[in-house]
Amino acid sequence: MTGDDDALLPMVGRRGLMLVLSSPSGAGKTTLARALLASDPNLSLSVSVTTRQPRPGERDGVDYHFIDDARFHALAESGELLEHALVYGKRYGTPRAPVQAALAEGRDVLFDIDWQGAQQLRTSAQADVVSVFILPPDAAELERRLEDRAGGSSDDIERRLAQVADDVTRWPEYDYVVINERLERSLGQLRSVVTAERLRGTRQPGLFRFAERFRR
Ligand code: 5GP
Repeated sequence: MTGDDDALLPMVGRRGLMLVLSSPSGAGKTTLARALLASDPNLSLSVSVTTRQPRPGERDGVDYHFIDDARFHALAESGELLEHALVYGKRYGTPRAPVQAALAEGRDVLFDIDWQGAQQLRTSAQADVVSVFILPPDAAELERRLEDRAGGSSDDIERRLAQVADDVTRWPEYDYVVINERLERSLGQLRSVVTAERLRGTRQPGLFRFAERFRR
């Protein structure tokens, strides 16, 4: 919620939503996600656990919680992950507790996760999930972005490019699709999705009480 959206919120109340962003590697999803987070104080990032190595500039606990296979296995076994998947040969998962706390407080949570994770969240939390698939504008731009990416080995880039053709086919599973040609435009489109989804009557349980005020 931003600006004048806030005024009636305490009375109407709202359950937080789970904004799931997925894309083929290199579509610019992480940049978009950061811009969206920076522009919206009621939205926070779900920080995933992963067994992959940090890239230069990535910070433990901020970009990811970097953990080893044994720890990942223990978290998955004990049910502490909302979803988890093997992506490009490494394990990724969403810690459950911070998400549940945020939603209960009416805060929205952004998930930067792949299509496998999105499928699992839709199954376990269908009413709370709003999913957006981000597509790159064209194949050449995608390749350039992947090659530019700091820390990616050429093997890694090749593997990701081979995966892209498969990943792109997942778009029909998502509620919304954004073609990320220009950051500003895509950001505006994402913000529109968030604004509209927050206004869904089903997300505002306090409306029953609110509407009582007009009874004569
Ligand atoms: P990267 O290694 O480039 O940070 O992420 C690789 C892929 O893993 C991206 O598509 C990213 O969205 C996905 N990913 C990151 N965290 C999670 C997670 O917790 N669960 C799932 N299923 N995918 C994730």
